[in-house]
Amino acid sequence: MSYWADIAIIGAGVIGLAIASHVTREGREVYVLEKNETFGQEQSSRNSEVIHASIYYEKDSLKAKMCLEGNSLLYQLCERNGIAYKKCGKIIVATSDVEAEELEKLYERGNDNGAPVRMLSRREMTRLEPNMKGIAAFFSPTTGIVDSYSLVRYFLGKAKENGMQVAFKTEVIGVEKVSGGYKVDVKHPSGNYSLMTRVLINCAGLYSDKVAEMTGININEANYKLHWGKGEYYSVCGGKNRLINRLIYPLPTAISVGVHVCLDVDWRLRLGPLFYYVDEISYKIDDSRKRAFLESSMMKALPFIEPSDLEPESAGIIAMLRAEGEGFRDFIIRHEYDRGLPGFINLVGIDSPGLTSSPAIARYVSHMVNELLENQANCL
Ligand SMILES: Cc1cc2nc3c(=O)[nH]c(=O)nc-3n(C[C@H](O)[C@H](O)[C@H](O)COP(=O)(O)OP(=O)(O)OC[C@H]3O[C@@H](n4cnc5c(N)ncnc54)[C@H](O)[C@@H]3O)c2cc1C
Repeated sequence: MSYWADIAIIGAGVIGLAIASHVTREGREVYVLEKNETFGQEQSSRNSEVIHASIYYEKDSLKAKMCLEGNSLLYQLCERNGIAYKKCGKIIVATSDVEAEELEKLYERGNDNGAPVRMLSRREMTRLEPNMKGIAAFFSPTTGIVDSYSLVRYFLGKAKENGMQVAFKTEVIGVEKVSGGYKVDVKHPSGNYSLMTRVLINCAGLYSDKVAEMTGININEANYKLHWGKGEYYSVCGGKNRLINRLIYPLPTAISVGVHVCLDVDWRLRLGPLFYYVDEISYKIDDSRKRAFLESSMMKALPFIEPSDLEPESAGIIAMLRAEGEGFRDFIIRHEYDRGLPGFINLVGIDSPGLTSSPAIARYVSHMVNELLENQANCL
């Protein structure tokens, strides 16, 4: 049996569904294909839920632009649609002279990216966070927290309302370029099927490089190969969440923004994520990395947290383009017409701040889709 669609989207994470909620607006026939039993089971539900302000990323990068735009779109979306959020702000704190120098550079970067940031005096640091220790800090008032499950569910509901069809337990196993579009082969518990589509959008998260490869793209030459980073979270027990008034972050490390304070909309306190590279997907977590947590800058900044307060809690796995030891890598959001694949849009390496950027990425991809469908129509 084969189905025809205007647009097929691979992946029902926050990115695939945010895009689906946008591209369905034109009344098109849109299918979302998802290998899991339901939506948002991978990166989109295993993250820090932070609405980032656009502090960390290279100037003029897609990450910097999408994060800045996504930040304000996300607050509007949450406010209008009853999605739980807290615009609590965050403090980035230095605990040594070396870190204080890095802090200045990070502050400048945030400024350059257009993120509102403000240096704090020692007195302000104590007033805002009496239980935090540090020698210098700046404040980011537009950083916040969102209930990521409600956000993803909102995008799903919106897309469905606009007529999107979603197929769960439907794994894409092959893609073939055919005249006028793509033949997408899928595996479902009831059998194997294919679907024909004019536009194909790859939002397969951890597997988006593999999906790109299915179309014949050499992912090594294209620099699309993904590396997986496992991020572990530890819960902080003993009512210590009441000793903190906002998010608190250290200086970023080579691989991530560093082990930081994570608060959810119910003000549950966790530390994490502690990232390291992995080759397989396993969300198991034990206390074997507790020492690394205890040695993190966050423990120096928050001395009221005792080692015995920390319990292993959960883990997430992120899809990064950056290999171990490499520098900054930007999101890849690309219409692959110059690789002989018109109508195929790749989103690869949508790591952090992907959650924050989701509404901006949806707009961006929607413009691409409008343009390419108009061009296709003009060629008929
Ligand atoms: C530990 C961690 C902390 C993070 N913290 C933050 C944060 O605080 N703020 C922030 O902005 N961002 C954060 N991020 C990043 C953010 O979570 C991601 O950028 C975002 O969730 C990516 O969404 P996605 O839809 O691209 O991927 P996913 O949520 O992984 O969705 C991809 C979907 O594609 C499906 N799929 C894959 N292959 C196939 C196939 N062959 N066929 C069918 N379906 C397929 C998968 O099953 C999955 O459902 C964090 C990420 C992690 C892991």
